[in-house]
Amino acid sequence: MAAITMKNIVKQYGDGFPAVNDVSLDVQDGEFMILVGPSGCGKSTLLRMIVGLEDITSGEMKIADRVVNKVAPRQRNLSMVFQNYALYPHLTVFENIAFPLRLAKKPDEEVRRRVTETAELLELTEHLERKPANLSGGQRQRVAMGRAIVRQADAFLFDEPLSNLDAKLRGQMRAEISRLQRRLGVTTVYVTHDQTEAMTLGDRVAVLRKGVLQQVGSPRELYEEPANLFVAGFIGSPSMNFLPATLDSSAEGTFLETPLGRFGLPDKITAAEIGDRDVVLVGIRPEHFEDASLVSEEKRARGTVVQAHVDVTEWLGNELYAYVPYEAPEDLAAQLRDLSRELDSDQLRTQAVVALDPASMISEGQEAELWIDTSRAHIFDPATGENLT
Ligand code: ATP
Repeated sequence: MAAITMKNIVKQYGDGFPAVNDVSLDVQDGEFMILVGPSGCGKSTLLRMIVGLEDITSGEMKIADRVVNKVAPRQRNLSMVFQNYALYPHLTVFENIAFPLRLAKKPDEEVRRRVTETAELLELTEHLERKPANLSGGQRQRVAMGRAIVRQADAFLFDEPLSNLDAKLRGQMRAEISRLQRRLGVTTVYVTHDQTEAMTLGDRVAVLRKGVLQQVGSPRELYEEPANLFVAGFIGSPSMNFLPATLDSSAEGTFLETPLGRFGLPDKITAAEIGDRDVVLVGIRPEHFEDASLVSEEKRARGTVVQAHVDVTEWLGNELYAYVPYEAPEDLAAQLRDLSRELDSDQLRTQAVVALDPASMISEGQEAELWIDTSRAHIFDPATGENLT
């Protein structure tokens, strides 16, 4: 087992901006670390530098306290786990798992012993003589893991292993990988662009954007305390709503004027911390809106009730999404369009997405009273994207 330590890692291809830009990240011994971000953010490049398939332009890569910048891939004692279809279809489960040992020309007796142990660990003993075609998706994934484990590598590396599977199988595999990783306790780095995978699998998640590490934390930390607009918008589905707001200070206190109404300041921030910014973005998760008619008096007092026009609803059985269009003042709208391009997304919508209790009777075209848990809102600096709360 081994920790992986990355210090100021840079990868520069040609003269564009670096694919990986000054990333420092520690993966602890036995930890399950997820690298997540949109296409092109540099996550695969970073993984390939850990494995040794890509040269490091500058910085230091350590595995188990050994600097490996110049160490050949096969001398790093890491195991890359490929997608399940990377199994050899003509070989039995036994020979698929044994493959790395055969390559290393290990004696038959050792091969038999190690494959048998691995199969026991993975509950594959009964299937050793089968061919991959006769296994379920989950069993195939376990064989692929077996091939990685049998070598007794110091760490496992996964590059989007589930991206070619349908949604249902992907869900099963996630649980399978998670269970195995916990059982084996082996250091694991897992690359995905899927925030659901990132949130459900890892001990910690590292969010990358354009080669730059944005935040590293537990799924809960990323969700509850996103460092900036990008992480706030990337983590969570449907994604966080960002409302432009101006500050209004009077004898009664300081309020945020948003297109949905006037909100009190969230718990974690004071007017002084917002400073002299003219405009801020107020981030509210869809699930922090509720149908006001279903909210107790005591809870009402903790948040803000607004009148909203519900344009469209989507009823999914266990959830009810409502879309609430709003108009931002023109000067704010222009600023937001620029920001929106910068974020490469449609996160700065002109409608709020609201997740309501499916028991709510709010329907399309209705003027509704919505309660917003404004105490838990986030405030972002629109210029830097920094979360001020
Ligand atoms: P994806 O999920 O689409 O694979 P990614 O986050 O894994 O994306 P990388 O594949 O690491 O991103 O690529 C990061 C950046 O480096 C991209 O802009 C990509 O075009 C560029 N890049 C990757 N490999 C090379 C290469 N061999 N030569 C030049 N540029 C490259």
